[in-house]
Parts: sequence; structure tokens; C-alpha cells
Amino acid sequence: MLNSARKSMPTLDYVSIVRSVYGDRRALLAGAFASASAAGLTAYKAHSIPLALVTCAFLIFGAARYFNMQAFWRANIDSDDADAAERWELRAMIGGSAVALTYGVWCLVTMAWTSDPYAELVSASLSIAVMVGLIARNFGLDRLVATQLLLVIVPLAIGLFLHGDAYHAILAVLLVVMLSSFRRLAGDIRTILLSAVHGRVEASRLAAELDMAMSTMQHGLCMLDESGVVTVANEHAVRTFSLINMTNLVGQSFQSVLEKLGENGRLPRTAVDRLLDIVSRRASGKVLLCLPHGRYYEVTVSSRQERSVLLFEDISDRVAAEERISFMARHDALTSLPNRTYFSEIVTEDLATRERNGEPARPVALMILDIDDFKHVNDTLGHIVGDRLLTEVAQRLRGSVGPEAVLARLGGDEFIIYRGTIGDPAEADAEVAAIIAAFATPFAIDGMALSTNISVGLVTSTSLDDHLDALMTKADLALYMAKGDGKGRSQIFHAQMDIDYHYRQRLKTDLRTAVRTGGLMLAFQPQLDIASRKVVACEALARWDHPELGSIPPSTFIPLAEEMGLISEITAWVLQAATLQCQSWPGDIGVAVNISAHDFRGGDIGAMVARALELSGLPPARLEVEVTETVLIEERDIALKVLNALAAQGISIALDDFGTGYSSLSYLSALPFTKLKIDRSFVVDIATDQRSLKLLANVARLGRDLGLTVTAEGVETEEQLNAMLAKTRIEQVQGYFFSRPLPPRDIAELISRLNANPAQAALIRKHG
Ligand code: C2E
Ligand code: CA
Ligand code: CA
Repeated sequence: MLNSARKSMPTLDYVSIVRSVYGDRRALLAGAFASASAAGLTAYKAHSIPLALVTCAFLIFGAARYFNMQAFWRANIDSDDADAAERWELRAMIGGSAVALTYGVWCLVTMAWTSDPYAELVSASLSIAVMVGLIARNFGLDRLVATQLLLVIVPLAIGLFLHGDAYHAILAVLLVVMLSSFRRLAGDIRTILLSAVHGRVEASRLAAELDMAMSTMQHGLCMLDESGVVTVANEHAVRTFSLINMTNLVGQSFQSVLEKLGENGRLPRTAVDRLLDIVSRRASGKVLLCLPHGRYYEVTVSSRQERSVLLFEDISDRVAAEERISFMARHDALTSLPNRTYFSEIVTEDLATRERNGEPARPVALMILDIDDFKHVNDTLGHIVGDRLLTEVAQRLRGSVGPEAVLARLGGDEFIIYRGTIGDPAEADAEVAAIIAAFATPFAIDGMALSTNISVGLVTSTSLDDHLDALMTKADLALYMAKGDGKGRSQIFHAQMDIDYHYRQRLKTDLRTAVRTGGLMLAFQPQLDIASRKVVACEALARWDHPELGSIPPSTFIPLAEEMGLISEITAWVLQAATLQCQSWPGDIGVAVNISAHDFRGGDIGAMVARALELSGLPPARLEVEVTETVLIEERDIALKVLNALAAQGISIALDDFGTGYSSLSYLSALPFTKLKIDRSFVVDIATDQRSLKLLANVARLGRDLGLTVTAEGVETEEQLNAMLAKTRIEQVQGYFFSRPLPPRDIAELISRLNANPAQAALIRKHG
């Protein structure tokens, strides 16, 4: 059957086959002209009108097909336009059939109606030759080939039969057989050609895809053949190798490339060896390559069937990010110094090595350093200046210790230095002295000159048992002592500190218990009006009688409580106990309670006071709170808020220990003070030293001028009192001369005695 080519093959093939039918216009024109000439020759030789008509037909059909072909190429149909291709197939069919029929008719006329053997020979041989040409040209379109063959052979065979003899008849039969074999031949050619075409199309499609994949992939790729020669290298791989001056990768033995790179040091030897090992064994694995300019590549080798594929992945960014993260995890962001964790790692490792090697003779040194009054800088100048100061301090420290010292920031304003290689403890001492000296020059920050001191706690050790934690505890203890000595001091650790430390630890534990179980007591010390000698108020002072250690002075346990964060509990209790006690005193005698700077940080003083007043029912006017200048230095803003609120309720606010701190006059007007308590140190010499007395008188006048009640503390003798009376404007006095701090029962008695008969005060003084 004559199958439609369109249905039997893919559109793309069909269109291109239709195109092939419209192949060579000039060949067609030449063929038509040659056929017309041959037919014209036979017409002339045989004197035949029909043959002349055949000649004309060749010319006309030839021209028509030529123009049809031209029209086809002008139409320029799309490769997937099967409908158009089908229309053009039909036109080719019509033209081709017309020409084929002309050949057939030519043969028929020469065989049947002329008796010219030459004409017969020409027409038959030419037609058969043309049939071969038809197959060659139109093999793709089975329908066209079959129709054309039929249209040539059928009239030719009829002509042969009409000849009348058996020989021509046999030839006719043979020709029909030929027809079918020609058609099959065309079919075979078509199949072979199409499959070849398909193969080529598929191969080039695969090649294009592979090429695309290789050129767009983010990694470098090399393929090695069985003998280890690079057969493929994508652009990325070429670029990677050109980084290490290696061009012309393809065609070279990969082993020799690597060896060259390893020899001239462009690749690290160990990485080269590892890569060579994997490649030579045709194994698989990964190798990290470090290239110049900080580039890192991860090479993945995969081998199969004696061939290897190498992938080069640029992991520089990943490595850089990892390095950055690891740096950040181990360093302080502000100063870029090692942080506490990293410091511990380094030192622990060093101490462990020392222990392994058994090097007890050489001492190690550890210093903990703390910037003095850093909080003050932060609070008054802001965190930006504080941060700048820390950075500068870090630099100055780095500059004043040797390169082998491990310097780190512990956090806040604390730094730490470890030296694993000092000659003797004196060397460490010298280093500490150098550090402290380095802080003599003020820091220049934002155009300001900031004078800052640093305190240093030092420990040296030759013991292999001293681990980092132990050394740090000792250096901390030494630092604590140094801080206690003042600013810009250093202290070397000695064993007594350890003893003191353990004593303090015990006190802390016991103090907590005492506070929780009501182990603290209150003593009251009267404050008297200097003129009337009447008790106007009593100061509440905390007392701790330790069951085993005896009486512990408040100068010991109050700072401990502050350190422990226990002070607010104490203050709350003192407020309650003192106000309650005050309620039982006659008249309008007040009570004064000491408030620590730490209370402003931790506790809610307003609430504590309110609760105490509520529980005791004491009028606010009878309560006085005493604060020191420390409050103004350390907690200025919050103190201002809290004290203003208290003052607004009528509570008196006293500035305690005036003269011991900065004694800045600006503090006096900054807060709502009602009283100035001049420290004992101003009183102690007044009976013997006129200058001291003058000084006291001036301080007192200053307080009075500011509208404050002025109290002198620590009046111990009658001479002191008389001097005050005569030469100063002091209004109130407090001191052992009148009474030591007394337990509640005794103070009540004292008050009733003194206030009932003031004259008796003098008596008591004389005989008491
Ligand atoms: P302060 O507030 O200046 O208290 C006065 C201290 O001077 C008391 O010592 C008192 O006994 C002592 N004193 C009084 N008159 C004389 C005298 O004529 N001569 C001498 N040499 N000393 C005299 P104390 O009770 O040992 O208290 C010491 C410090 O402890 C107090 O100084 C105060 O700062 C603190 N403190 C005491 N109790 C408390 C408290 O309940 N809370 C707070 N936050 N601190 C307290
Ligand atoms: Ca006080
Ligand atoms: Ca005082």
C-alpha cells in the first residue's frame, strides 16, 4: 500500500524529507532539458508528431516543476509545519507524476507506434536511467516513488507487450519485477538514512547537553583516561589550573602535571602526594588543595572502569567564613583579643605540656587586671567612650608585655595575662610595674585626656598542681587586695590571702544564714541637739554576733553583704526594725537608717520604706535615710529619682561621712539633702589643732549656708564638744562622748533619762 510519509515518521523528519525532494533546481532543469532533447531527437529521427508532443511536454513540465521548486524555497516552511509540507508533497507528486507519465508515454509511443529501434533504445534507456534518478532523489517519499515508477513502467511495459513478440513481453515482465524491487530499494535507503540521521541528531543533542552542563557547572571538571591522560577539562578547570600557571591541561598526563606542581612548590607537597595516590590507584576520595592567594579547592576524585573524574570545587568562601566564625568564637569582638574560653584553651594546653614534660623549676605567672573606676567612665562619658577606652587599654597592655605573653579579655573591664616562660618571680614583678607605669600617660579619646589606672593581681607558681582555675582564683584574690589598697596598685598573691579568702567565704555563708534566721541585731546611737542636749534622733546600726567568731563589725559584714547581693535584705529588715523601735520612743525623736549604694541598684528602696512605715505606723517625718557620696558617683540617676520621691514624703535625707570621699560641693545641691553629717576625721583633732577646728567650722558653715542641718560625728570628748560649741555652727552631735551605740532596751532608757532632764546629761558625762 502507498503509505503517507507524514504518518509514518516524526514531523521533523517528514519536513526535511519533503525538503530533500525539492533539492537541486539546476539538476532538475538540466534533466528536463536533456530529456526534451532526447525526445526531440527521437521525434526527428522517427518523423513522429506524438514524439514532438512528448518533447513539448518535457519542456513544459520541466519549467513548471522548476517554478514550483522556486516557490517552495521562497515559502521557507518551518521544520515543524507538517501541514505545509504535506501540501508541498502533493505539488511535488503532481509534478513528478506528470513527468513520469511523460517518460512512460514516450516509451509507449516509440514501442507501439514507431518502428525506429533507435528511438526505442533512447526512450527505454533514458526512462530506466531516470527511474534510478527518481529513487535517488525521492526515496524518502514512498508514495511519490511508487507513483512515478508505476507511471513510467506501466506504459513502457504496455509498449513492450504491444510489440508483439515474446522477447519484448518477457522484458516487460522483468521491468514490472524491477518496479517492485526499486521500490523496496528506495524503502531500504530511506530506513538506513533516517536511522543515520536520527543517530547523528541524538549524538549532537547529547554532545550539546554535555557541553552545556560542563561549561555552566560551578565546579572544575577533568576526566582522565585509562592511562591517566587528561581527556576532558572544562573551562572552570582550565581557569583553576591557570591560577597555578598550568596551561594546556588536555592531552597531558595528570600525574606529571601534579608532580611538576608539587616540585616547584605551587601546590603543597602533602596534598599532591595524596592526590597522586588516589589517582594512581584509580580510587575515589577527597583532597583539600590550598592554592596561592588564599584560594581553597576541594578535589573529589571518582574512579570507575580505569577512568577517573576529578571535580574541583572552590570552597574559599566557605573556608573564609569558617575561619571568621572560628575567630569570632574565640576572640572578643571589641578588642580582638582572645576571649576567656580561648584563653583557657591556650593556657590549659600549656600547663598540660609543662606537666607532661615535668618542668617544675620554671615558674609561670598569671595576672588579672582591672581598670579602676571604669563604671564611672561608662556612666559619665557614655558607652562609646567606654568601648574606645577598652580598645586603647587592650593596645597599651599588648604593647607593654612581651610577645610570648598570652593576653585576653576576661569580660567587662577585666583583662588577664599569662606568661609560661618567666625566669623568676622578680621578672613578673617587673612586668607588672611596667604595666602600671604604662598607664601613667592619660588616654587620648575623642580629644579628651582620660586618666585611668589599672589594678593588678599577680600570682606566680612553680607547682605542677596549680591548674588554671586555681591560679585565677589566687590572682583574683591578689587583685581584690590590690583594689582595697587604692587605685593603680598591684598585689602579688601570698598564702595568707588564701586563708583570708576562706575566712571570708565562711563569713559569707554564715551571714546569709544570720540574715535569714534573724541573727542580726540593731544598735542605736543617739544624735543630740548641741544646744539643748536633747536626743533628737538615733542612728540604727546593724550588729552581728557570730555564734563562734564573736562580734563581727559592720565594716566587715556590710561590704560582704554588698558583694553577695544580700544588702537589700538587710536594709529592708533594718528599716522595719528601726521604724518599729522608733515608734516606741517618746515625742518626735527620729530614726536614721543607712542605705547602701547597692540598694539603689538592686532593691526597690521606695517600696521598702513604704512597707516599713506602713508596718510601724511611723510618720515619714521621723525617718531619716543616710547615704554616702558613693551613691552619687555610682547610681546618680536612680538615686536622684528615689531620694526625690522620699523627700517629697517628708523623709529626711542625710549625706553621710562628708569629707571622706570626693566632697564635691556640687553633690550637695544635686540631691534633696536635708542634713550634712561631717565625718569623724574632721572632729578628731579639733581640741588640739586650731587648723582642724577652723576646717570643721568652715565645712559646718558651708552646710548651714546651704540650708542643711549640720551634724558632727565621732564626738568623743568634752573638749571636742566645747570647741565645737564655741567655734562652729554645728547643730547636732553624735559620738561616744554621749553614748556608744546601744541595744534597743538601753537606748529607750537613755532617751527617757536625757530628755527628761537635760542637765543630767552633763552629770552622766562626768560620771558615766
Ligand atoms: P557610719 O554610718 O558612719 O556609722 C557611724 C559609725 O561610727 C558606727 O560604727 C559608730 O559606732 C561609729 N562611732 C560613733 N561614734 C563614734 C565615736 O565617737 N568614735 C568612734 N571611733 N566611732 C564612733 P559601726 O557601727 O561600726 O558602723 C560602721 C559603718 O558600718 C557605719 O558607718 C555604716 O557605714 C555601716 N553600717 C552600720 N550599720 C549599717 C546598716 O544597717 N546598713 C548599712 N548600709 N550600713 C551600716
Ligand atoms: Ca551613718
Ligand atoms: Ca558616718
